[in-house]
Amino acid sequence: MPFSTLGLSAHLLKALTAQGYTQPYPIQQQAIPGILNGKDLLGIAQTGSGKTASFVLPILQLAQKQAASKNRHISALVLVPTRELAIQVNEVFAIFSMALPEKIKTMAVYGGVSINPQMINLQGVEILVATPGRLLELVESKAVHLSDTKILVLDEADKMLNLGFKEEMNKIFALLPKKRQNLLFSATLSDDVNNINAVLLKEPVIIKIEEETDNIDLISQLGYFVEEERKGPLLRYLIKHNGMQQVLVFTSSVFKADVVADKLRINDIKASAIHSKKSQGAREEALNKFKSGKLRVLVATDLMARGIDIKFLPHVINYELPRSPKDYIHRIGRTGRAESPGEAISLITPEDQHHFKIIQKKMGKWVTMIDSKDFDLQGY
Ligand code: AMP
Repeated sequence: MPFSTLGLSAHLLKALTAQGYTQPYPIQQQAIPGILNGKDLLGIAQTGSGKTASFVLPILQLAQKQAASKNRHISALVLVPTRELAIQVNEVFAIFSMALPEKIKTMAVYGGVSINPQMINLQGVEILVATPGRLLELVESKAVHLSDTKILVLDEADKMLNLGFKEEMNKIFALLPKKRQNLLFSATLSDDVNNINAVLLKEPVIIKIEEETDNIDLISQLGYFVEEERKGPLLRYLIKHNGMQQVLVFTSSVFKADVVADKLRINDIKASAIHSKKSQGAREEALNKFKSGKLRVLVATDLMARGIDIKFLPHVINYELPRSPKDYIHRIGRTGRAESPGEAISLITPEDQHHFKIIQKKMGKWVTMIDSKDFDLQGY
């Protein structure tokens, strides 16, 4: 089923081709027509399923049809749990809104940075991507008004609840007009998420995208006990010693991703980091080089790695563990394939040991552990 059957405008179809989106992902096939028809939606889907474009495209199309809203009155609100996701979702809005004949101003707001520039920039914004706390601050200072909001999206609703945003979310719901379209995305359906569904959604289109965890038995998993200061040398030893040619390395921060990639390059291993601080162009270049085998190692954070649509990777290395067992499974799930099982390696410091046990318990599988203390890492 091509994109052209989903009811999107010629401008958006052209932009999709320019972005290299040839076929809609399953969630997009179902969500786009439903949203364009004004339906509420419940999407049970992980990041990586293509859920962002599944709401960005129809929201942009609907926003075009509407008369321009009063200044500082947004027409669509996307609530997200983290700053990284806010930036990422807004990037997708920005890419596709550029393709429209009448540009629609979109913006991401989040805490942890100065509020003043955000207050100024909110002028003329029609679609806002926000973390809950900062949004409330901006509403209180009258930098933005929610009373004309026609569409509300909750992205990663489960994560928002886990991070304790329930109270803020309820405050925001109370500020929105009663009549509106609600779209809710969540990786899981907990009781808390269900409670929100019951309050927000009316006869929603329900879409469930299955997780790719079936292949977990096909993945050879290994863990190495290692002291923090020997992690870098051990990583380079493993890559060189085992002749790994296409390796995706995960770190938990942007900063660490850069450090690890720099050190690999200093040691003659072609590597690049991709994360939210890099331009879209730089990310795409790194990704293309990695795919075509010109780059041996790609170092990524979870958020960015979800955008890597490589169906099979021979090696995944967790330089740092993810916080959630789900993310661990998502990371390593890229390596398993029936005809050639991949390998997932985790570097485990003494501080990580307890957390790694929890991950293994949740996964229902125990990982073979190797102590690296006797490895001679001299020269790596
Ligand atoms: P998401 O689940 O929204 O984070 O999307 C995951 C990744 O898939 C992003 O990098 C998107 O750019 C990419 N993507 C989404 N839809 C498509 C599509 N139909 N074709 C190719 N790539 C896509």
